Amino acid sequence: MQGFFDTKIEFLKGVGPQKGALLNKELNIFTYGDLIQYYPFRHEDRTQFHEIKDLHGNMPFIQVRGKIRHYEMKGAPRKRRLIAYLNDGTGELELVWFKGAEWMLKKIQPGVEYIVFGKPTVFGSKLNVAHPEIELATQQSLDSGHLQPVYSTTDLLKRKYLDTKAIAKLQKVLLPEAVKRLRETLPKDILETYGLINKKEAIENIHYPDNINELQKAQYRLKFEELFYVQMRLLKLKLARIDKFKGLIFNTADLLNKFYNEFLPFDLTDAQKRVIKEIYRDMRSGHQMNRLLQGDVGSGKTIVAFICLLIAIGSETQGALMAPTEILAIQHYTGLKEFADKMGLRIALLTGSTKKSERKIIHEYLRSGELHIIVGTHALLEEVVQFKKLGLAIVDEQHRFGVAQRSRLWQKNKDVYPHVLVMTATPIPRTLAMTLYGDLDISVIDELPAGRKPIKTVHRYDSNRLKVNSFIKEQIELGRQVYIVYPLIEESEKLDLKDLMDGYESIARAFPDIPLSIVHGKMKPEAKEFEMNRFIKAETKIMVATTVIEVGVNVPNASVMIIENAERFGLAQLHQLRGRVGRGADQSYCILISGFKLSKEARIRIETMVKTNNGFEIADTDLQLRGPGDLMGTQQSGVLDLLIADLGKDGKILQTARQAAQALLKEDPNLEKPDNIVVKNQIAAMKKTAINWSRIS
Ligand code: ADP
Ligand code: MG
Repeated sequence: MQGFFDTKIEFLKGVGPQKGALLNKELNIFTYGDLIQYYPFRHEDRTQFHEIKDLHGNMPFIQVRGKIRHYEMKGAPRKRRLIAYLNDGTGELELVWFKGAEWMLKKIQPGVEYIVFGKPTVFGSKLNVAHPEIELATQQSLDSGHLQPVYSTTDLLKRKYLDTKAIAKLQKVLLPEAVKRLRETLPKDILETYGLINKKEAIENIHYPDNINELQKAQYRLKFEELFYVQMRLLKLKLARIDKFKGLIFNTADLLNKFYNEFLPFDLTDAQKRVIKEIYRDMRSGHQMNRLLQGDVGSGKTIVAFICLLIAIGSETQGALMAPTEILAIQHYTGLKEFADKMGLRIALLTGSTKKSERKIIHEYLRSGELHIIVGTHALLEEVVQFKKLGLAIVDEQHRFGVAQRSRLWQKNKDVYPHVLVMTATPIPRTLAMTLYGDLDISVIDELPAGRKPIKTVHRYDSNRLKVNSFIKEQIELGRQVYIVYPLIEESEKLDLKDLMDGYESIARAFPDIPLSIVHGKMKPEAKEFEMNRFIKAETKIMVATTVIEVGVNVPNASVMIIENAERFGLAQLHQLRGRVGRGADQSYCILISGFKLSKEARIRIETMVKTNNGFEIADTDLQLRGPGDLMGTQQSGVLDLLIADLGKDGKILQTARQAAQALLKEDPNLEKPDNIVVKNQIAAMKKTAINWSRIS
């Protein structure tokens, strides 16, 4: 019954062309199918009656029944309000109307029982409900108590009489017809194994459940389905890749052993050892590796990367590492070169600013195989960059590259694609990683090298600046260096730059004898580099900067990070910035400075930073605060256009759904069993729309 769900929304009774156009524009509702999948974001409980004596100001919407004892008009003529005193035998509640008071005055009758619904608020010492919904307590109205769905709408829609109630009414018109025609979209087996209700019931109850239990079952079923199909798609991609792409087999460990025995500068952490094992296993498997390596700042990814490169080079192939910015590329290069030199391996750096003559030599040596490792930026993707035999491609900070770019790196070895290791220092909560990178295997370095002193983080208000300044002075006298960071948000770039310059001047005034550096995005690259280098060489003691230093500079001697206007930064960014210190042996500090006035979320962000250094914990909080849509890198993924599931909250369901998808594919990889035809059909249908994977079609 494809046709029915594709019917244009304007044809639904009560919609018509004008409202139809509004629903298209404002809510992306084009068809009947879209409407029944426009799920309410909460329900108002119309099954429970509260007693007035139990009410308090922190309650959401409540329902009471009682009689109006008396009422009165109050206030100056133009500001007249109607107050009615509702009594239910346990207490009295004020009902207030500012608008339409005259009209209500005619409507209400004392001594008759009403059902009243609204949000109680405290005014003075009394509770009142402004503009409540009120209806006569007839037997019928008492019996029809239910969970009323609440839909989000827009101001424009409300003005055009398409408020949540109107949408609820439309749903009520459409649902009986729609439910008749719905097909099941999950296999019987899965419904049974995971205790899911069927689709018809789920759609009906997601809008109009009889009770909370029904609602929860409907939510669970629909979330499960949505996540199941997301995982299905990712797992199928992965299967296809494993089938299709053979991998180079690296099984000589000579170079590796040499490095371990002679040059390993420290004991690896258990986490480092574990991920190296995982990677090495992939590289010997005969299938192309596609692995994500997650590790917080300072967790020691560089040496892991180098060891992986050794495995590749040991089998007569070359390695490449691509970073999103020049600064980061240089830093990787410097880090790796130290090891490479010891091992007598040749390594080079290729970026946009590499000189032409040098570039030519690099290209040549890559082709001849004389260069073992190349580190660079996008410049590596150019057609002229050809390898004798590329065995391992490492990509840092994947979220800044697209999947398409990642695969352009593969193409550098057309015979057999190189193994691919994607590294990221942005901790991604497991649930999100499984969705975003579900087609990759995941390794996590979840442990910092021993002996690291955790960074001490504190929150200070602007008014404490003098104390902060004397702390800075103290630290510099101890020989340390300090970062002071200002926010830079593109929309208000000018204002921010002014903030930065003002800040710089007041710092210069506060520390007249201390040499300062300043770096911001509006400077020429040479000037920026010059300033950075002065700081790296400790010629300057304080680095005043915008967030350009977020990725990049590694100055172990810098042990204080001061973040101005900390309330304006996101959690991920705060954490990245803090990661710039704590890299040396000294105790490091992070001071978050803010104004007194903080939004609730800003306060939670700052408190979270003060409370923990754990990137994954921070990422989890971030996910809960913002939802996945805003997290870095999620925009391009396209898998996060979810109708009902919430990756911040539905991690458990996601895991179950992923297991279900895995089990099903293991048993029936091509989805050929009669029971699984529904899955095959659903995937095919979703491919066509390519909008959302659980959409009804
Ligand atoms: P990441 O790139 O993950 O942020 P790095 O690879 O730059 O971290 O490592 C941070 C610092 O920790 C470096 O100075 C590095 O030499 C050091 N380091 C890495 N692994 C260990 C270890 N197992 N023991 C001691 N120090 C380590
Ligand atoms: Mg690093």
